[in-house]
Amino acid sequence: AQAKWGFVGLGQMGYPMAKNLRAKVPQADSLIIYDINESTTRQFVEEASDPAHAAGASVTVAKSLQDVARNSETVITMLPQPKHVKAVYDDFMAAGLENPPSRLFIDCSTIDVKTSLDVGAAVRALGHEFVDAPVSGGVVGASAGTLTFMLGAPDHIVSRVQPILERMGKRVVHMGKPGTGIVGKLANNYLLAISNLATAETMNFGIKLGLEPKTLASLINCSTGRCWPSEVNNPVPGVVETAPASREYQGGFGVSLMAKDLKLAIAAAELADAKLVLADSAKRMYDEAEVHEECKGRDFSVVYKYLQLLEKK
Ligand code: NAD
Repeated sequence: AQAKWGFVGLGQMGYPMAKNLRAKVPQADSLIIYDINESTTRQFVEEASDPAHAAGASVTVAKSLQDVARNSETVITMLPQPKHVKAVYDDFMAAGLENPPSRLFIDCSTIDVKTSLDVGAAVRALGHEFVDAPVSGGVVGASAGTLTFMLGAPDHIVSRVQPILERMGKRVVHMGKPGTGIVGKLANNYLLAISNLATAETMNFGIKLGLEPKTLASLINCSTGRCWPSEVNNPVPGVVETAPASREYQGGFGVSLMAKDLKLAIAAAELADAKLVLADSAKRMYDEAEVHEECKGRDFSVVYKYLQLLEKK
């Protein structure tokens, strides 16, 4: 049978994800796409009609969000923030979707736990399925189709969702019931926010006390302080050649995305009265770096540079 796919939010992440999905589903399938930015949907259609990309589902651009919901069996959303996800799903649910068929909605955006649970409940109330499946791996992983999905879904739907996500990623980790995918993502990014900042502070004071940056990093990386920021994404320029720090902090994971995820993690912890003693200082650092002239738009490891700017004050 021909499957009908929908994709909403073709930004930095969504565009390559939709591209991989389209290329990996049977040619007889259809894909309907929507984004408020018309130039991105236009580009997607142009690319799909290029003979070099002939294989893959046929693509149409939807006139509205309701158009997507009505003409899809499975809809994937990849949107910036909670307010966008809420607005988009309100529109979907106002489309007067008949049931059966029960449609499947997969939200891959990184949003807060409460919005995700509320949206999921609204979708389920109309007899459709909703799962949260935020991702790790960034734009590079989205383009290469190597993302890790953190899936929050009822057990009965996992076998339907997994092969879909595997068209856009390498790993699907079923975290538990709805909402737990988001919790997993925010927990991981909380740790990343802290370990990145701690690495920046550590490298900074070690270097100031006379250590050679590469020597300090090598020591940490064969000792108990080792972490992804020390080993792969070291915040000190020149320590890891392939890290954003070594190219003026260009590319990578934007400092404003980290500031956003940290806020979401703090809100999630508050829902459960879980204490986060390091969150406030970390939040201040990312919030300030996000708007600072020399740091904005850069990789989140730029907090190392921001730390030094603070010292000069
Ligand atoms: P982006 O801003 O590049 O893309 C979002 C897209 O959604 C844009 O094309 C925008 O026009 C569209 N959009 C906004 N409102 C819309 C609406 N009402 N209807 C239709 N389209 C709408 O963002 P991104 O970097 O692709 O990130 C998407 C999500 O993925 C975010 O929640 C982000 O935190 C998460 N994420 C991003 C990365 C990364 O490295 N960029 C990594 C992991 C997770």
